Amino acid sequence: MFTGHFAVGFAAKKAAPKTALPALLAAALFLDILWPPLVLIGIEHVRIAPGFTAVSPLDLYDYPYSHSLVGALVWSAAFGLVYFIMRRYSRGAWVLGLTVFSHWVLDFISHSPDMPLAPGIEGKYGLGLWNSVAGTAAVEMSLFLVGVALYFSATTALDRKGKFGLWAMAGLLFVLQLVSYSGSPPPSVSAMAWVGILMTVIFVIWAWWVDKHRESR
Ligand SMILES: [Zn+2]
Repeated sequence: MFTGHFAVGFAAKKAAPKTALPALLAAALFLDILWPPLVLIGIEHVRIAPGFTAVSPLDLYDYPYSHSLVGALVWSAAFGLVYFIMRRYSRGAWVLGLTVFSHWVLDFISHSPDMPLAPGIEGKYGLGLWNSVAGTAAVEMSLFLVGVALYFSATTALDRKGKFGLWAMAGLLFVLQLVSYSGSPPPSVSAMAWVGILMTVIFVIWAWWVDKHRESR
């Protein structure tokens, strides 16, 4: 999933109005923020295998630290705890922790059985929504529209930047998602990892800027 994770981050603003959007999106994307650096330094592994699923050309055969069930629980707790220590907003900390964990749930629904329970444990799981482009698009686009609508209803624009910045961001994410459904494989694993890192940085900064020009209702 791509915009499916953004959807949860946007929606979470409704549950934790005092938590900044960049933190909520970083939480929703957190397992995929950890993953590219782990791949680049050779701790986790992925193969580019065109047609591996209808949606994704990636054979995610080894990513137990970023994407196992136990890993996700640990990262969720750590994210919420660090936020609580920094901000003392317990509602925000709980929402962020749950948002980090939502990533594992959405990936479990999407991926072919490649998600481990814990590092070193045999057995991989996944419901394989990615075997259907139409099914994935229906689920993910619905999630995305609901998530953006919830963020929109939880906040109000302070100026034109807050208004158009949000629509531009949502529009670009929507287009990138449509393009990614074409399933064209990335040129290399390292190129894919760097693009992933770059896109996360751009969208988290964009979210910070949008959120600064909006306030909670
Ligand atoms: Zn993921």
